[in-house]
Amino acid sequence: MKQTKLFSKMAKEVSKEETSRNAQLLIRGGFVDKLMAGVYSLLPLGLRVFKKIEQIIREEMEAIGGQEVFLPTLHPKENWFKTGRWESMDDLYKLKIGNREFALAPTHEEVISPLAKKFISSYKDLPANLFQFQNKFRKELRAKSGVLRGKEFIMKDLYSFSRSQEELDVYYEKVKKAYKRIFERCGIGDKTYLTYASGGTFSKYSHEFQALTEAGEDLIYICDKCRVAINKEILEDQKGQCPECGNTNLREEKAVEVGNIFKLGTKFSEPFDLDYLDEKGKKRMIIMGCYGIGLQRLMGTIVEIFNDDKGIIWPESVAPFKLHIISLAGSGDNPVYKKAESLYGELRTKGVETLWDDRLDKTPGEKFADADLLGIPYRIVVSEKNAKEEWLEVKKRNADRIEKMSFSALLERLEKSAGR
Ligand code: ATP
Ligand code: MG
Repeated sequence: MKQTKLFSKMAKEVSKEETSRNAQLLIRGGFVDKLMAGVYSLLPLGLRVFKKIEQIIREEMEAIGGQEVFLPTLHPKENWFKTGRWESMDDLYKLKIGNREFALAPTHEEVISPLAKKFISSYKDLPANLFQFQNKFRKELRAKSGVLRGKEFIMKDLYSFSRSQEELDVYYEKVKKAYKRIFERCGIGDKTYLTYASGGTFSKYSHEFQALTEAGEDLIYICDKCRVAINKEILEDQKGQCPECGNTNLREEKAVEVGNIFKLGTKFSEPFDLDYLDEKGKKRMIIMGCYGIGLQRLMGTIVEIFNDDKGIIWPESVAPFKLHIISLAGSGDNPVYKKAESLYGELRTKGVETLWDDRLDKTPGEKFADADLLGIPYRIVVSEKNAKEEWLEVKKRNADRIEKMSFSALLERLEKSAGR
């Protein structure tokens, strides 16, 4: 894409009330726009990042047998009344239209459970695993963390339906591994810890995936021996010990909950009468699990982890573009511009996602500053000095060194780094 055609422009200033680093960088770079506290639009650049994250998650969900659905976000009151959450959930947005009342989905157990009831009747229909990428609405009164905590946000939510507790336990472990791969592929694997958290009625623990960053609202206690953590909320119950090895020498860190997995047991099967007939024709309750990842939160966490004083440093797997061409030309008939134009064309032919800063009215300094802010992994500068040369001047966003390489060497390099 040519930068002159890009819908969003980079902003020098962000409103003072936006105090979170992730939102400041994302707004300045033109990735997102703020509509009001906790509510953000994704602009073309931001949506490109978002879609990459979504695709990584989708691939990993499908790899563990998940089937994708898309459920409504406007829910009838009755479903929420049935589970008691119409009254008990503080974060629930309620609407009254005429005489009818509705909830805006904060999560989807109240819709997916009755849906499953329509299609599951026998042990032969099980196990079943459904997931979606869909909006959630939550009141979130303290929405001060930029895109990490939205009042409206997209969650990948997966729900599992199993014949027995054992079957759920096996699937739960598979989801754990899938989540680990997701966070690794998004570049934050090193920073993300499987964290023991409170379990609720049906299991001793739930598990969170907590990514270390100062922007985090949670405190976790890490056991470096087991490479797991405990959420502060259960530290006391746990007597300050690692649940895996009993170690009490734990390290406190701030973290963001990027994912959460939960064994629900029959909590939702009961109110919706979600049962099945087993091999012997006996009625049994379906055992459920639920598994969430907030997409804007994951995107914001990546920004919080990968930035410097100049801007964002996107991991290649989620970057909006792989490569940024910066041409330092004053006019369109200049050899510098021509060289950049043909390079841009060749890269597009090769399928390399490229943004070309073809702006003629910006100084080199402005262009470099904007490129640093956008954080695209590879940058090629085309200038008077190198326009006639065979080689290209390539620099990685997070390196100082400029490397000279041929077009084919560049392609090879890009392919190699993508495969990692
Ligand atoms: P928190 O404790 O941070 O409020 P939660 O425990 O209420 O989160 P869950 O109901 O477990 O969140 O939701 C599953 C996942 O959805 C979370 O792990 C997180 O990634 C994401 N998520 C939750 N709330 C938000 C929000 N307000 N904005 C963006 N993502 C969110
Ligand atoms: Mg949670």
